[in-house]
Amino acid sequence: MIDLLTPLSGIRGIPPRFLKRLEKLEIFTIRDLLFHFPSRYEDFSEIVPIANLEPGMQATVHGVVRDIKIRRTFRRRFVIVDAIIADDTGEIKAVWFNQPYLLNTLRPGREANFSGKVSLGEREIYLSHPAYELIGLRPATRDRGQEMRHTGRLVPVYPETRGLTSRGIRFLIQPILKSVGEISEWIPEEILDSAGVPEINEALRDVHFPKTLEAALAAKKRFSFENLFLLQLFNIRQKMKLAEEKAQPIQIEIEHLKEITEALPFKLTLSQKKSLWEIIQDIGKPKPMNRLLQGDVGSGKTVVAAVAAIVAAENGFQSAFMAPTEILARQHFGTLKKIFARLPLRKQPEVGLLVSKEAKVFFENDLESLVSKNEFKKGVIAGKIKVIAGTHALIQKDVRFDKLALVIIDEQHRFGVRQRAELHKNRETKLIPHLLSMSATPIPRTLMLTVFGDLDISTITELPLGRKPIITKIVAPANRDKAYQFIRGQIKKGRQAFVICPRIESSDTRTDADTSAQIRADNNQRKSALPWETKAVKEEYEKLSKNVFPDLKVGMLHGQMPARAKRGRGLASDGKPSKEAVMKAFREGKIDVLVSTSVIEVGVDVPNATIMLIEGADRFGLAQLYQFRGRVGRGEHQSFCFLFTDSPAKTTSDRLKAIVEAKNGFELAEKDLKIRGPGEFIGQKQTGLPDVAMRGLQDFEMVKAARDAAVKILEKDKNLKARPLLAEKLAEFERKLHLE
Ligand code: ADP
Ligand code: MG
Repeated sequence: MIDLLTPLSGIRGIPPRFLKRLEKLEIFTIRDLLFHFPSRYEDFSEIVPIANLEPGMQATVHGVVRDIKIRRTFRRRFVIVDAIIADDTGEIKAVWFNQPYLLNTLRPGREANFSGKVSLGEREIYLSHPAYELIGLRPATRDRGQEMRHTGRLVPVYPETRGLTSRGIRFLIQPILKSVGEISEWIPEEILDSAGVPEINEALRDVHFPKTLEAALAAKKRFSFENLFLLQLFNIRQKMKLAEEKAQPIQIEIEHLKEITEALPFKLTLSQKKSLWEIIQDIGKPKPMNRLLQGDVGSGKTVVAAVAAIVAAENGFQSAFMAPTEILARQHFGTLKKIFARLPLRKQPEVGLLVSKEAKVFFENDLESLVSKNEFKKGVIAGKIKVIAGTHALIQKDVRFDKLALVIIDEQHRFGVRQRAELHKNRETKLIPHLLSMSATPIPRTLMLTVFGDLDISTITELPLGRKPIITKIVAPANRDKAYQFIRGQIKKGRQAFVICPRIESSDTRTDADTSAQIRADNNQRKSALPWETKAVKEEYEKLSKNVFPDLKVGMLHGQMPARAKRGRGLASDGKPSKEAVMKAFREGKIDVLVSTSVIEVGVDVPNATIMLIEGADRFGLAQLYQFRGRVGRGEHQSFCFLFTDSPAKTTSDRLKAIVEAKNGFELAEKDLKIRGPGEFIGQKQTGLPDVAMRGLQDFEMVKAARDAAVKILEKDKNLKARPLLAEKLAEFERKLHLE
């Protein structure tokens, strides 16, 4: 008797080389195999008399092999198999490439189904590369009605690996589906009913060998739903658990808070105030805040978080202010110093910066000094340094805090589950720090309910007063020089420009399940025909500094440059400029045009920069383009974004049009979710969800149904005591989330 956990190696009849290939697809057990879902279906359900075939049809023919032989093409060294298939109404030729072994199975006289495309040759129509399936010879099997796998039905097409075709996978799955006994359903029946999805046995059968396309879709919906349901259970339970934890309440008198906000260099916008207030209320409570502050690029999230940090410092508590890159961490360090210095505080806090190995900067009473990392750490553990800006090294390394009460994470949609665990491990007391994450990439509402379902959310809805919308233009190759002239004009007026070059990306990651020779040929063609040339930063830098803007100061920034200089000199140990030095020069206006890779993407704030020129714009995702554009338009001057593209593809320009037209990040995020799917949008790794569930994230109704169902169950039965099967399933789901 086999069950879901039976390893495939324990099943007779699967050749070892098959097992190896299955392992490549991460398929080890019966369950893995049964949950390897088709990516699509081919409809070969209708059996068509040969006389009725027409070019272009996808059809199944039921006939007898009349003749079959091999021929070789000399020049291209192809082996071609030609067969003549006949039924009562006529004959048709079938053609296969490079499959000489077909002669062993499709012998003359054999009866079979052939499913494939009807193509038009020079003189006649033929079946090109059809799937085939022999009809059982023994009368007994025929009478019982042989069940078809590859032809004469909706045929599943699977994601494949080398040497393991959809055909092979169908061969394996069909008998296993039959012999794997009844699987126990773990979703309560009333939930299946209200979500309108089939129970598990039916769903498994229909996802692989559906009778109709509707049945297949319903089955997929079930698997999508089950994952969303688990995710919701997980989220809601997380939230419940967190609510039981203790945190340090950080409080401040309203009057003092007012004094502080009034001393800021600008008047806070209404939604900055509102968000700040939500945060202040949260951190005033003895349970951990878990809040996401979202707001469009340039909406001023930093200052809101800075005030929260200062409130903590005024109470004698420490805050960690983390950024995804060193560039950004340094920028925050600078901003915090500047802001704090002008506030009417009881005590000016010491602000530190800690980044990767060379973390050594320290600030005290208007003096900035370098200290050794050890000294720095001592300052942190002694509680002397109150606000610490840094990269994620802050939580990952052996940094111990005295009274860490607030953690701020910039430009991250979501603090990873694992990182959060890390943070808990780090705590010196039983108290959990309050957590504030910030993101400029607005989150579509389905994701808000799912992947971010355990977070409270504050939103900054407007930009600071007086910001002018960024003028965005797609620039055709012919207008390149005009754009350069325009940029020169802006720079002469004192402004600065970014030029972003795309990095090299693997060009084609499509894994099409159909292995027919034609499709493969198409793919190869597409690969070699990619028209874009990746603009390397270095080349672009050479070109701009020597030919286009020889009279301007052009700088370069890319990921391979050393992060920072040796001891205050502008150069790193090997004499090359560092990222830090280049950013500093740009900030100080000593560089007019900064040619950069996407390292500049997030958060960088140089209000005098008003031009964002993006080379190969079609190579970036919408969210990324949006982030780039957000680097300008951050001050009083009119800003511009130029999208350069060499690609004529229509979908591409649609995408760029979306960025030109989108009024705000939210609108864009919804579009992006549609265009690229949720996996691309947040990174599938971050969610820990399988493909089938990721697709479900686009379906708001289903997401909501899953959430409602989860709430209903947990309200009554927090620990799922009455539902052991479900509890087990959830535990397994959580394990997976923590593993990845
Ligand atoms: P983001 O939300 O993208 O992180 P920042 O916090 O970097 O944006 O702020 C963008 C710029 O706007 C900064 O230069 C900041 O000083 C400025 N800023 C923030 N809030 C206001 C405000 N209320 N009025 C005017 N300028 C502001
Ligand atoms: Mg920011």
